[in-house]
Amino acid sequence: MSEATETKSAERKCSVANCKRPYRAKGYCGTHYKLWRRGEVEGHKARYKLCSKEGCKKPAGRYGVCEEHRAKAGEAAAAG
Ligand SMILES: [Zn+2]
Ligand SMILES: [Zn+2]
Repeated sequence: MSEATETKSAERKCSVANCKRPYRAKGYCGTHYKLWRRGEVEGHKARYKLCSKEGCKKPAGRYGVCEEHRAKAGEAAAAG
């Protein structure tokens, strides 16, 4: 039993303009769904914020930075 639970009768399509791929999840086709999860769909909000440190693509937590950078900031603060 690995069927998706989303079995509503309404026809679903990928919400990306001009995309004709079959619907997968969260309003996207399989391809765009993957991109969306990575926050790479233009004009669509990422599932989570990304770390505000430049070049860091990790998901951000409470303070707008990823766990790694948060830990570093915490260490610096504790040491200071
Ligand atoms: Zn698509
Ligand atoms: Zn980071």
